[in-house]
Amino acid sequence: MTLERRRLLAALAAVPAAVALGGAAKEPKRKDPPEPRRSRRRKGAKAPESHVDVAVIGAGAIGAWTAWHLVRQGKSVRLFDAYGAGNGRAASSLASMMLDPVQGGDALYAGLVDDSLAAWRKLSDTASLPMLTPCAALTTLAAGETLAPPRDTTRESGAALRSRFTQVAWRDEDAALFAEKGAMIAGQRGVLEAILDAQLTPETVVMPAPLRDKRRDVYALPDGGTAGGIVYACGAWLTELFPQILTPQRLSAVRHQLFHFGPGQGDVQFRPPAMPALIDRAYGFNLLPDVEGAGVRCWRIAADASVDPDSFDRRADADAGARALADVRQWLTGRLPRLAAAPVVASAAAHDCRTATGDLLLDRLPDQPRAWVVGGAAGRAFALAPAIGARVAAHVADAARPVEPRWALARLTGSAP
Ligand SMILES: Cc1cc2nc3c(=O)[nH]c(=O)nc-3n(C[C@H](O)[C@H](O)[C@H](O)COP(=O)(O)OP(=O)(O)OC[C@H]3O[C@@H](n4cnc5c(N)ncnc54)[C@H](O)[C@@H]3O)c2cc1C
Repeated sequence: MTLERRRLLAALAAVPAAVALGGAAKEPKRKDPPEPRRSRRRKGAKAPESHVDVAVIGAGAIGAWTAWHLVRQGKSVRLFDAYGAGNGRAASSLASMMLDPVQGGDALYAGLVDDSLAAWRKLSDTASLPMLTPCAALTTLAAGETLAPPRDTTRESGAALRSRFTQVAWRDEDAALFAEKGAMIAGQRGVLEAILDAQLTPETVVMPAPLRDKRRDVYALPDGGTAGGIVYACGAWLTELFPQILTPQRLSAVRHQLFHFGPGQGDVQFRPPAMPALIDRAYGFNLLPDVEGAGVRCWRIAADASVDPDSFDRRADADAGARALADVRQWLTGRLPRLAAAPVVASAAAHDCRTATGDLLLDRLPDQPRAWVVGGAAGRAFALAPAIGARVAAHVADAARPVEPRWALARLTGSAP
């Protein structure tokens, strides 16, 4: 073969066949590869200032949303956490949480649902990954229990629920409060997104009880900085910070054993929208549906122990966990029989912060004009954190604003009028 012919063949090989053969077919239009998505990172956080309007202690859900609202009010804020924002010890570190419009029929908390849902939805819309999954919620009633249905909630009978939620074994005598417009919210990720959206850089510092510089009328921070006001959103750690006022009888960390059960491949009956969150007061168990493939999460409503939030083991406990798993399976056998033999795909022990009244604590510390404590409201404070944070920020802005009597410190210390 001559050199010319070789060159010609090589050139032909590089030309698409149809063109080379003189065919009429057009070269197929090639799609450009997709552009890498543009960074959705928000503006960088600012460096801490030496004096700020407010220091927020605790970067769990309540602290994060309190800081978020304070920033929106135009306040300068520093946010501190002993273990870092989104840490694995915080109660807010669970992967997903339910925003339940029923709120056990309690109008005070049901009144916080709409604002919280709107805030989570807005945050979810701007987050890199959506954080909100619409999900209905059902609260069954124990025998003889009469809970008033909050707004947008209906009372349903077992017979009516049987045709709608076929995964659940309903009894004719069952009664439940039903809310269509609940949501599952990303837990730990939700906290981090709120902080990012507030353009704050949380500082990993163990903060002491407030040190007030009376002469300058500011709170001293450990690095020499100062703050005009201070908010302790430290959940179950509030007893550690204020042992004289918040004794373990008044506020404590309580433990739950959690189990995630894996439905079969392709089974969508245990995911929203088919599966609601189920607060089964009639039997004493909670169930959150399968979101993001994490499995159906079940746990007993009653806590199994008081714990130290710093040191307790977050694995499901060997003895108590085995008992708890047997109890959950027994409940599933009666209530959701198709899940009774499902494998456990994850298990853990987690804590919540419970006050003696079961309510939220949101009040000023005694003799401290601008130091606030907030925490408690076991089982609901994560989802309601946007509205709780807004209340805290409103108190910081307006010292004369009255404290909600059910959330007052005096109710725990016994000095309520
Ligand atoms: C099994 C289980 C299921 C739940 N399900 C739901 C649900 O579906 N929906 C819902 O709304 N809620 C749910 N909850 C409740 C929810 O987890 C909590 O109410 C909520 O996360 C509490 O948030 P927080 O910000 O008050 O406390 P935390 O998240 O505990 O945050 C407190 C932070 O303070 C920090 N801190 C402590 N001491 C100091 C210090 N000295 N200096 C600096 N930082 C400090 C800690 O490191 C921590 O990060 C559930 C709880 C449990 C246990």
